[in-house]
Amino acid sequence: MSKTTKKNKSSPRKLSYYPLYVFFILMIAPLLVMTLVPKRPLHYPNIILFTVDTLRADRLGAYGHDRARTAHLDFFSKKATTFSTVITAAPETLPAHATLFTGRYPWRHHCLDNQYPLRYSEHTLSEILRSYGYRTIAISNAIMSLYRGFEQGFEMFNGKSEAQVNKERNKKTTRKPHVKIKVTSNEQRNDPSRATLTTKRAIQACESLPGTPFFLWVHYWDPHSPYNPPDIYRKWFDCPSGTGREFLFPDEMQAIHRQKIELTDIEKTKLSALYDGDVAYFDAEWGRLMRFLAARQLLSDSLLIFIGDHGESLYEHNHYIGHGLSIKNTVLTIPLLVFQKRFPAHIINHQVKIADIVPTILDFLALKPEKVSLDGESLLNFLNEFTTRKHVDTPAALSRAHLTGSTSIQNERWKIISRDDQETFTFHDLAIDPLEQNPIIDFPEERPPPRLINALKQWKRNFKVIDIKKSETQNDEQLLEMLRDLGYIDEYPAEAAN
Ligand SMILES: [Zn+2]
Repeated sequence: MSKTTKKNKSSPRKLSYYPLYVFFILMIAPLLVMTLVPKRPLHYPNIILFTVDTLRADRLGAYGHDRARTAHLDFFSKKATTFSTVITAAPETLPAHATLFTGRYPWRHHCLDNQYPLRYSEHTLSEILRSYGYRTIAISNAIMSLYRGFEQGFEMFNGKSEAQVNKERNKKTTRKPHVKIKVTSNEQRNDPSRATLTTKRAIQACESLPGTPFFLWVHYWDPHSPYNPPDIYRKWFDCPSGTGREFLFPDEMQAIHRQKIELTDIEKTKLSALYDGDVAYFDAEWGRLMRFLAARQLLSDSLLIFIGDHGESLYEHNHYIGHGLSIKNTVLTIPLLVFQKRFPAHIINHQVKIADIVPTILDFLALKPEKVSLDGESLLNFLNEFTTRKHVDTPAALSRAHLTGSTSIQNERWKIISRDDQETFTFHDLAIDPLEQNPIIDFPEERPPPRLINALKQWKRNFKVIDIKKSETQNDEQLLEMLRDLGYIDEYPAEAAN
């Protein structure tokens, strides 16, 4: 009896907790799992982003360049949406990529030139996609491989895990010195930034993809100076080595700009041919990666975005060769091609901008992340071909060359340039002066709309009030050495390149 009584006393107590366990397992545990594990969409397409440094749109066959040898990209353009006029936010690698990855203008993300890292407080595309369950992999190059904020959100960055990257970033002194950019032709073939090695590393990364959906970012560097394509591409453009100037940054090119050295017609042809050779070399290697992705059936259900970060001045304005100092459209206009099987192949002739990429991807995936504030607009209507009704009044594009304190705003007709040290503006009518060679002195008939001028004034005010903390501009010796090699660190002449 006594045993039974004990049993009877204890049983109800046990039974009273049972529903709580069940409740926890059925209701609370799944909620906990949902908060701890990223939301993993089952049917979202992969996102593949190709960025190419220093690639002028007008040097591609797809954009009408007669001498281009860019067969792979030209073929891709026949399947894709090609945007004819795309404006970058800055003529330098870090701020341009910062806008690409955040959808925000430089005065908002504070990455103003190549000496400013992208802040870890920014919400990048890789972080956003990862929070929705995407696996994230990056193959980066040159300045952006130095952990300047572009590694955030990536599970694998240049073949290293997030834990390895964090460890290396916190122990800067243990890093090996980078391969110098200014080297002879043979040595440069071992430069990890070269397209051949970029494709090799991208293929290796794809062979060990951690799962789907994935976000893959591959950055090619080759059109960047020094213009030094492998011999076969020099032959394509009838440009053998050892025939005069080699246009290797920084010495030769800076001397040409500073001393206003006049190039001969032969030298101008060679400069152009070397650049075209580098573009052709990139195209061949990118084509090799595309064939690999196609063979693995990784293209058919993916959203592919191909974009440049900024262009390159090839002696068109004020003897300037390079980018960073100029605000002309030779350095601000970039290619943009987008492919997804549900979009028709077509050409969009409206002006768009680099800040539009993040809003477009989020719109395409129907994602609305919290705490994300964007400056760009979605291009989904363009991709779906509902263009003429929705985008009659295309938003203006703002750009900033921080090294020279130059800011510009442009729409499809007008471009207005302002320098920090001047109160006056420079106006160009792009419809009759697309190369920006004849600033308008008078406006005999039409004038740019006041909202364009007001937006530029507001942007200048925004730049004056941003408070860049010291820690944001700290640079290590490795970065400074690389920037010096590339010709970015120097005294900038007042007349700059504009
Ligand atoms: Zn760049």
